[in-house]
Amino acid sequence: MKSKSSFHALNFWIQILKAPASIMNFNFDKSICFFGLKLLILSPLYGGQGQKTPNMIVIMCDDLGYADVGFNGCKDIPTPNIDSIAEHGVRCTNGYVAYAVCGPSRAGFITARYPQRFGFERNPQYQPKDPDMGLTRDEKTIAELLRPAGYHSGIIGKWHLGAHIPTSHPMKRGFDEFYGHLGGGHTYFPEKLTIKRSQDAEGESDSYRTWLLKGYEPVTPRKYITDDFSDEAVAFVQRNRDYPFFLFLSYNAPHTPLEASEKYLNRFPKIVDKKRKTYAAMVSAVDDGVGRVLSELRKYGLEENTIVAFLSDNGGITTKNASSNFPLRGNKGDVWEGGFRVPFAIQWKATLPPGLAYDHPVSSLDLGSTIVSLAGAKVSEDKPLDGVNLIPFLTGENKEMPHKAIYLRQFDRNRFAVRKGNYKVVTVWKGAKPQLYDLDKDIGEKNDLADLKPDRVAEIEALRKKWNTELMEPTFLGLIHRKNHGKKKK
Ligand code: CA
Repeated sequence: MKSKSSFHALNFWIQILKAPASIMNFNFDKSICFFGLKLLILSPLYGGQGQKTPNMIVIMCDDLGYADVGFNGCKDIPTPNIDSIAEHGVRCTNGYVAYAVCGPSRAGFITARYPQRFGFERNPQYQPKDPDMGLTRDEKTIAELLRPAGYHSGIIGKWHLGAHIPTSHPMKRGFDEFYGHLGGGHTYFPEKLTIKRSQDAEGESDSYRTWLLKGYEPVTPRKYITDDFSDEAVAFVQRNRDYPFFLFLSYNAPHTPLEASEKYLNRFPKIVDKKRKTYAAMVSAVDDGVGRVLSELRKYGLEENTIVAFLSDNGGITTKNASSNFPLRGNKGDVWEGGFRVPFAIQWKATLPPGLAYDHPVSSLDLGSTIVSLAGAKVSEDKPLDGVNLIPFLTGENKEMPHKAIYLRQFDRNRFAVRKGNYKVVTVWKGAKPQLYDLDKDIGEKNDLADLKPDRVAEIEALRKKWNTELMEPTFLGLIHRKNHGKKKK
């Protein structure tokens, strides 16, 4: 683990090395000396060809529908900045997350391991006094893995991996910076935030009204919080531009409550449905933020060597936030494609070809694995990552499929989905006959081919059973186990 003092020491040397020659009493000998010193200090951060290891920014939306970005065909919500990631990089048409609801999906992303391996298989309850209600200490986050490789990590926005500050706060889990909220969602307007301390919120709905945390300090956002998070992301890039960084920009938009400011609502005079109009405004606010972050990278010449990925944490919950997963079947929470196949694009201008559509299945687990691999960070042998370094696949250097299969288990519902190649087997309750779909020909999962292709079903079922033996049961109760779950609280 890199201590805070060693980080500050590194930062000190970086600041010294950045100092203008005039104030360093510049002369030739000194410049050579400083160049050598700079190489000595920063060499672990650079690759073999003098190529600085890349930064990574992962921009994750919350409950954004598969069809609600321009690069997936959205017509009524312009998303030019989000689309630019796909235009300058790769659009992954078959991009999956590790689970079909927020918490476990994020637990998977942040560890690059299937959350079912470590019992994070439910949306956690908001329990500020319970150290076990969240991400287990036995797992390492990507930020923890990247720290010894010299990376500075920050998270802005939603955490949702535990509300017990002494053990579960992001800065206890490898992040150097945090600005956001610990629970699963948040109210968007500062004037509605009436609970100062995060630890005073009693339950999930209360947590929506806490002040935000800047590090460990409660602060009130200065504006509509999507804009506030974008401000923070821009400042993060500006502040950390001189050394490798990992930024998890975790917008809670467009998760409910549906709330948007007039600035964004006014962009959609033609959308009549009030829910869809507000949702569109919320997505548009995110798009503005994405544009500002990309612009900040460009300003400092960082765009070439920063990997920027965009995705949603799960599928849209169409009835609640008026999102659209068309043409996929199902919603957030489902084992159908609409539950866990999401908008997914990634750019790395220095390396990836522009404008490519990549059709083999990829996973949110791959994002962390990619940066860990590129950074040369060490991974514990007994906890191998489930993701892969995507870069050789996206460049075409490796023409194989990145994954033998993509898996989903929902323990409480006895549901499974396993995708191998273009085939997917779905089991919807314990003992139910497995269904088989050919997603290349039937993206909407309408034609069950199980009776026609029993061998294919058996092959994928064998994979599922083997994978299932590697998993554990959930280690904590979830939101669904609260008595007031699903009931509105004023
Ligand atoms: Ca979500």
